[in-house]
Amino acid sequence: MLTLNYTYRIEPTADQKQQMLSWLETCRRLYNRCLRDLKDWLNSRKCSVDYCSINKEYIMSPDIPFPSYIEQKKQLTQWKKTNPYLKEVYSQVNQDVVKRMHNTWSAFKRRGFGFPRFKKYGQYRSFYYPQFKKNPLTGYQIKLPMIGNVKINQHRPIPEGFKIKAVRIVSRARNTKWYAVITIQSNVSVPDVIPYGRAIGIDIGLENFLSTSDGFKVRPARFFLDLQSELKSLQRKASRKKRSARSEVSSELGRTKQKRSKNYEKAQIKVAKLHHKIANTRKNFHLQVAHELCDHADMIFVEDLVFSVSAKGFLGKNMHRSSFGQFRTLLSWVCWKRGKYFAEVDHKYTSQICPHCGAHTGKKELKYRVHNCPECGYSTSRDIASAQVIKQRGLEYIYIKGSPNLAEKL
Ligand SMILES: [Zn+2]
Repeated sequence: MLTLNYTYRIEPTADQKQQMLSWLETCRRLYNRCLRDLKDWLNSRKCSVDYCSINKEYIMSPDIPFPSYIEQKKQLTQWKKTNPYLKEVYSQVNQDVVKRMHNTWSAFKRRGFGFPRFKKYGQYRSFYYPQFKKNPLTGYQIKLPMIGNVKINQHRPIPEGFKIKAVRIVSRARNTKWYAVITIQSNVSVPDVIPYGRAIGIDIGLENFLSTSDGFKVRPARFFLDLQSELKSLQRKASRKKRSARSEVSSELGRTKQKRSKNYEKAQIKVAKLHHKIANTRKNFHLQVAHELCDHADMIFVEDLVFSVSAKGFLGKNMHRSSFGQFRTLLSWVCWKRGKYFAEVDHKYTSQICPHCGAHTGKKELKYRVHNCPECGYSTSRDIASAQVIKQRGLEYIYIKGSPNLAEKL
């Protein structure tokens, strides 16, 4: 079974947009309701019955079952009777909201962090149709249950042999851009990529976006800096625009209030659109680099650095800006698509080992950009040296341990 996601721009009419926005708001309220019940239940089990409930009162009948996915799905039918607005949303979309909350909850239980959070107004930005009996695409339109035909820009066709399984509708850039993420499935089985041919190791760094073991370097793209400074100036302008003081403004001032808030909203939309553009540009840049690497190699090894951790630490904003985590995911996907072998290797000490003689050269501070081995005299740029170590590690795993499916284990 092969599952892929294809993303297309859609252009809903003003009415459709209104409807989708109201769906998002309903979904958000439903999500929060489910989470509230879950939290209340958990808290009620934390309070001892024989304690004074002066600070907290969460005592709940012990008969009330845990609000599991199945349980809350059942309750949804009840809630619909008392909250008619829930009925305005397609029922499978509603059910998926309950599921989404429970997915977050199970992920939290598995990993021990990331407890589901309440979504604030406007924070719920996508809804999901989990199944389609018929193909909803007609070439230039997509037929969404209860919303109707929405114009779609199908810039590439759904590949032969694939069926549409699900569709997620996503709102971006302050509801000015809408997308349909179409999940397609096919029964073909895809063989695992077997390691073969030319190998490279990749070191992801600061000064260079990345360096490979054979000395190829990719500079961080200049246009990010330009876009970034454009973003800064837009944000500065936007922050000068006054937000509307909704409750304080009296009715005589109604006009001024509206004018102000409109300008504010306009400025915010500009900022959101630029954010959107930066994200798209970055993704294109990442894809382009990934393809370029695949042109030059058959096996690609990267280090398994946890990027979200280092983004917070000393590497800071730069690291974050290039969002290497996304790059790694894209690279593994491009490799898979092009039949190239991709694996992650242990990142420890990659910058402290000499790729030439294997000697430990000790910790280098970030300011030292050159690797000089005191043992064998090998000298090269620091990033290239660690890329070479990464490549050697990858090859070592493959030739010694011999398993082609190392990706998870490395
Ligand atoms: Zn050496």
